[in-house]
Amino acid sequence: MTYRTTPARPFPLPLRMVSLLATGVLATGAQAAQCPSGDVAEADAWALQSRILSVDSHIDIGEHYATSKLDPGGFTTAQNDLPKMRAGGLSAAFLIVFTPQGTLDEAGFGRARAFAEDKYQAIMRLVRAYPAQVGLATTPGEVRALHAQGRRAVLLGMENAYPLGNRIEDVALWAKRGVRYVGLTHLGHNQFGGSSNPDRKLGDAPDDPGLTDAGKALVQALNANGIMVDVSHVGRRTMLEATRLSRAPVIASHSGARAVRDNLRNLDDEQLDAIRDSGGVAQMVAYRDYVAEIDPAIRKGVGELAATYLSKGWLEATPEQLAAFKAGVLDLRQKYPDVTVAQFVDHIDYAVRRIGIGHVGISSDFDGGGGVQGWDDAAQTANVTRELMRRCYTEKQIAALWGGNLLRVMGEVEALAR
Ligand SMILES: [Zn+2]
Repeated sequence: MTYRTTPARPFPLPLRMVSLLATGVLATGAQAAQCPSGDVAEADAWALQSRILSVDSHIDIGEHYATSKLDPGGFTTAQNDLPKMRAGGLSAAFLIVFTPQGTLDEAGFGRARAFAEDKYQAIMRLVRAYPAQVGLATTPGEVRALHAQGRRAVLLGMENAYPLGNRIEDVALWAKRGVRYVGLTHLGHNQFGGSSNPDRKLGDAPDDPGLTDAGKALVQALNANGIMVDVSHVGRRTMLEATRLSRAPVIASHSGARAVRDNLRNLDDEQLDAIRDSGGVAQMVAYRDYVAEIDPAIRKGVGELAATYLSKGWLEATPEQLAAFKAGVLDLRQKYPDVTVAQFVDHIDYAVRRIGIGHVGISSDFDGGGGVQGWDDAAQTANVTRELMRRCYTEKQIAALWGGNLLRVMGEVEALAR
């Protein structure tokens, strides 16, 4: 392992919290009796990782996924593939049908529909290509059954409801295909509501316009079809309105805590509380820029590398340009202080103290910009567990964070469908 270990508890507890913890009022892992006196051995982290069922709630897929150009059945240059999941002890992953935001007209909807279809087919190619290693799961029971067989579980999440266009009835189709959460928006407002990051190029108003009538119909359709409402990327006002309207618990599939890192993509305390009150779960995300302030030298260097190698954009770059860009970024992260897995776990700690151990989970956003030093691909999954053990979370609590909570919510949403 190449990452530098950090001292346990770099995140000072407020005094009031310390006294609450001491009296056992707060249900966090900080229980002196179970707390290791020295550092947690790597082997102990691996042992715990292999005993639990773990779910990463947000992993994207690259271009040409599940073809000879990017075969997730072997070790790839991507952050996630089947060997890395096995090597890291990751049991299950939501793979994402992602669509970037475009114009709100029939032409835009048509392009979006084709884009989403392509992503869905790519994920299904993986599932069909490696049936002995992986299976599609649509219920918590199916996730557990695959885990018991030693196979990885693939779950489907949709990021951005934009490709639904004006066809709310398509929600039933996606539910039948196995999609179990839908993020209402992405970067930029859409036909359903406001984004946390309005896109001026698309003509977005700076303020979140709130959940539209179509957005209200969408939330109701998601509830009716047993699909979790995902509020990551959703504007604050739209998020709170959707959470109030939803009959079922809502999730944030990949967001951080705004009190730890002030970023538009993160959830403030009122939003965290609303997720808890709905019975849902906030999946903290290991995305450098949402976890902590990026070192200015790294930020500047990455900008220069992008200007050199990605001047026509990510999708237009040649494989050589992409490789040079990635190597340059890696260099910078070794030269200057990188955002670490310990800083990521600070978000988990904060959310657990704010809304309770039963309402928090874990996501990487791998292959979609995510990753931190120490957890920069799926093979390093146990490093998150190790950091949680350093902070004295119990095995039961770690299992809850690593998927138990999310599967509970998934089951409840399924039960509330009609
Ligand atoms: Zn995202």
